[in-house]
Amino acid sequence: MLDVTILTIFPRLFDSFLSFGNPARAIQAGLVKIETADLRDFTDDRHRTTDDYPYGGGTGMIMKPEPVVRAIRHIRGTKGAPKVILMTPQGRVLTQEIAEELARMERILLVCGRYEGIDERIRAFADDEISIGDYVLSGGETACMVLIDAVARLVPGVLGADSHLYGESFYNGLLEHPQYTRPADFEGMAVPPVLLEGHHEKIRRWRRKESLARTLDRRPDLVKGRVWDREELELLEELRRETRLTELETEYGHIEDDRERTVQDGPSGIQTGRHGEGPCEDS
Ligand code: SAM
Repeated sequence: MLDVTILTIFPRLFDSFLSFGNPARAIQAGLVKIETADLRDFTDDRHRTTDDYPYGGGTGMIMKPEPVVRAIRHIRGTKGAPKVILMTPQGRVLTQEIAEELARMERILLVCGRYEGIDERIRAFADDEISIGDYVLSGGETACMVLIDAVARLVPGVLGADSHLYGESFYNGLLEHPQYTRPADFEGMAVPPVLLEGHHEKIRRWRRKESLARTLDRRPDLVKGRVWDREELELLEELRRETRLTELETEYGHIEDDRERTVQDGPSGIQTGRHGEGPCEDS
C-alpha cells in the first residue's frame, strides 16, 4: 500500500480533492493512504509563523526551515522513512515514468511550498524535487494534487482493470489513439468503419497505427530515438504510402534516420523495447 503524507499550510484544500474520483476510490479500497500534516502544527510561536523576510531584501516572504524540518523529522520518526519530495518548479518535471516510479513506493512525503519560495537549506532534507511543468503556481498544493492523481490511478487495483492503462497516452511512449462512443454518426462525422466491424485484430492494428500517427503529428519529440518494433515499421510504411508522413518527414527528418539506425543496430535487424510488447498494448 502506498502511504502518502502531504505537508502543507492549507490541509483543508485537500478535503474535496480526496473525496472524489480515483484518489477517493483508492483510499476507500485501502490501496492508498493519504494524510495531510499541517505545517503550522510544527511552529513554535504564538502566531504559528511559517514564513519570514528574505535575507538580502526583495519582495515576498520565504518559507522558514525550522517548521518544515521539524515536520519531516516527526513524520520520519512516526511513519518510518518516507521518500521526501519537494514540490518546486525547479524539480524534475513530472512524467508518466516518474508517476510509475512513485506508484511503486511504500511511503512518500510531499512538501508543499508557499510564498516566494522555500529557504534553500530545506533542500538538504529532501530526497527528490518535482515540478509539474514549466510555469509558476502560487503554492505546491495544486501540484501535489496533480501528482497524487497521476500516481494513485497507477496503483494496481485502483482502476478496476489494469488493462485500461495499456493503451493510454505515454504508457508505451506514444499518445493514445482516437476514441469514439455512440452515435456512429455525429453531425456528419462518422466513426471509422473498422471500429464498427468487431474484428479485434484489425481494431488493435488500427489503434496502434493511429497512435503512431497522432504522436508523430503532435509530439514528435516523444519518438525521437525510439527503437521501432517490426509492426511499428510496417505501420510507418503504411502511413508513408498514405502520404500521412510526408509533411512530418520534411519537418522532422529524424524519422527516416531513426528507422535506418534501428534496422542496422538491432541484433536481428529489429530491436524491441518495452513499447514493443505487442498485443496487450492496445487491448
Ligand atoms: N520563487 C519560486 C521559484 O521561482 O522557484 C517559486 C515559488 S512559488 C510562488 C511557491 C511554491 O509553489 C513553490 O515553493 C512550490 O512548492 C510551488 N510551485 C510553484 N510552481 C510549481 C510547479 N511548477 N511545480 C511544482 N510546484 C510548484
